[in-house]
Amino acid sequence: MSKPIVRFAPSPTGHIHIGNTRVALLNALYARREGGTFILRFDDTDLARSKQEYAESIQADLEWLGIPPDMTVRQSDRFELYDAAADRLKAVGRLYPCYETPEELEFRRKRQLARGLPPIYDRAALKLTDDERKALEKEGRRPHWRFRLEPTTVTWDDLVRGHCHVDCSSLSDPVLVREDATYLYTLPSVVDDIELNVTHVIRGEDHVTNTAVQIQIFDALGADAPTFAHHSLLITASGEGLSKRLGHLSIKGLRDAGLEPQAVASLAVLVGSAEAVRPVADQNDLTRLIDFAHISRAPAKFDESELDHLNARLIHEMPYDIARERLAQLGADEGETFWNAVRGNLTKVRDAVEWAKVVRGPVTPVIDDKAFIEAATKVLPADPWDAATWKAWTEAVKAATGVKGKALFMPLRLALTGLGHGPELAALLPLIGPERARARLSGQVA
Ligand code: GLU
Repeated sequence: MSKPIVRFAPSPTGHIHIGNTRVALLNALYARREGGTFILRFDDTDLARSKQEYAESIQADLEWLGIPPDMTVRQSDRFELYDAAADRLKAVGRLYPCYETPEELEFRRKRQLARGLPPIYDRAALKLTDDERKALEKEGRRPHWRFRLEPTTVTWDDLVRGHCHVDCSSLSDPVLVREDATYLYTLPSVVDDIELNVTHVIRGEDHVTNTAVQIQIFDALGADAPTFAHHSLLITASGEGLSKRLGHLSIKGLRDAGLEPQAVASLAVLVGSAEAVRPVADQNDLTRLIDFAHISRAPAKFDESELDHLNARLIHEMPYDIARERLAQLGADEGETFWNAVRGNLTKVRDAVEWAKVVRGPVTPVIDDKAFIEAATKVLPADPWDAATWKAWTEAVKAATGVKGKALFMPLRLALTGLGHGPELAALLPLIGPERARARLSGQVA
């Protein structure tokens, strides 16, 4: 089998969200697993709404997710190809000019509905004579162009949905070119898929009807249609769809919130699949879990708070060499022992900053029972301190004061860290070190 060529085709009209990420990851990881090519295609034929700033942020998001494209194209660079394809379709009578205004179309639609007829375009424009067309153009009307569908049932074997069929006689002939000569997405997408030899179109199930139309366009242009996989869409716990325009769970926002790319990727890929949603730290492992045949047909519901859980679970296992650079950027790289001591208490890597400060100071100690702390200070073990120091010390405190359990640990924790919670003191104590520990126990900010 030839290597797959796939594409992720966002319109750069907003920041991409976690749902778009599902599409991007399924494409990119599938291509990677099969040794294929992952193309980023900007669907920017809508020049007014497309923005360079969004294109750049999408590129950055893909980099962050660890799926940089092998190739990037922009539809706005490719209008000549679309014009040539449109001319070919016009020449064979598959693309025809229509002159109805939106109001006229709406009026007809209402009339059809009132008569109990399906509101599909009646193809009145196909019956116009040359003279009638000229007369309309003289009135100042400019045509939009519709693709004449064959009234057949289009079928395909979808990698997710199995055997699919759409009866095209129940669809309106789709508009491919607007009155102002700009293209809707439908034709350019097919032209690019042909020209870039795309083998698999992996996209959301909101495109199923487009697929029937596009298969007819592939056919009309003399090309074989690629293989299709329409996966379920992500919806929020309250059942809402995600919207780029609403800025819902944008990748940029999730990144700024300090989430790990693999937490986002694990959720985006595994929700609505046969696999349990769990943090998969290694992208290659996630790649192996993609199985189109077992993506559920129902919308994939997820709870935003799952992201924090997944993130925390990833961090609890995260090796120091992966965390190190990020810790350094945060000014919180206190070495491997430190990382191993605190990672179990973190939800985000950035939370390590708080614990770096606890180790390094300055910490304002909290001391309620001065006498107890003084008694404890007297039995502090001698230097050097190590992982066994805490146990030795607390046993000595217990022997000296008769205090035990939480009544013993909590005042020491509060004095040493200024906080009532945190990582094991056995691990923190040697990191704090005798000098700072003594100072804090004596009530100094250190
Ligand atoms: N620009 C389209 C979208 O974002 C691409 C759909 C496709 O993959 O063909 O929905």
